[in-house]
Amino acid sequence: MRLTDKVALITGAGQGIGRAIAEHYAKEGARVAVADLDLGRAEQVALAIVAAGGSAIALEMDVTDEAAVEQGMAQLVRHWGRLDIALANAGIQHIAPLHKLAFADWNRVLNVHLGGAFLLTRAALQQMYKNGGGSMLFMGSVHSMEASPLKAPYVTAKHGMLGLCRSVAREGAEHGVRSNIICPGFVRTPLVDKQIPEQAKELGISEEEVIRNVMLKHTVDGEFTTLADVSEVAVHLAAFPSAALTGQAVVVSHGWHMQ
Ligand code: NAD
Repeated sequence: MRLTDKVALITGAGQGIGRAIAEHYAKEGARVAVADLDLGRAEQVALAIVAAGGSAIALEMDVTDEAAVEQGMAQLVRHWGRLDIALANAGIQHIAPLHKLAFADWNRVLNVHLGGAFLLTRAALQQMYKNGGGSMLFMGSVHSMEASPLKAPYVTAKHGMLGLCRSVAREGAEHGVRSNIICPGFVRTPLVDKQIPEQAKELGISEEEVIRNVMLKHTVDGEFTTLADVSEVAVHLAAFPSAALTGQAVVVSHGWHMQ
């Protein structure tokens, strides 16, 4: 097992990619705090991990709420006494062309991804600096490197997370903190399933065409990235033994984006 006894906190872990990583971390021996806006979902994930023989707690945490992030972190530290791995994963999408985009929607998307990642980072670094190190992870996207139409706030936020990741790598190094960002292509989760019909409507094409000609068009094999692919990268980055791997973006996208 690659993460034995490590304490990990993952935001937005009530479903989708965050859930898959929480479950994989637990299988690798980590104790996992499953944080989500939706406490019911987080509890279900934590229960499933415990039922499978792992160690997990659920935290109610809206990552845009400063007090909620601080309190969730305090709860975790009361429970396990330390933090080794934190993953800023909570995210939302909003599909709209720029010229019709409401300022409130722009702010909402930036606030969840960037505001949320900052609040988690600050709380996590305070713990990791006390421990003498840790691994900070961010859930970026191919949209940390590329733009697609109709997703301006998401693309902007994901580019911003790359900057935050690199800043943490610079500042955290002297405290033993590494920082990396995972950049997946499209993965079939509720977030993606919701945007297929939205994009079809906005672009005036079929859902099948959205998948084939928009989402997977630039992959080498027309395949979705899987939850298992992303979880494996998340374990690898968390377990990596030295600062040789810090400030890096790992793109996991079936060749959609090649660096
Ligand atoms: P999802 O919608 O399936 O799950 C997101 C989870 O985040 C949900 O459980 C939701 O309750 C939670 N959440 C939303 N707002 C929150 C908030 N303010 N505070 C705390 N939790 C909140 O999404 P997903 O596809 O699993 O995406 C997870 C992350 O991966 C996101 O950052 C997303 O941008 C990124 N990502 C997804 C894909 C993809 O194709 N699915 C690709 C690249 C990157």
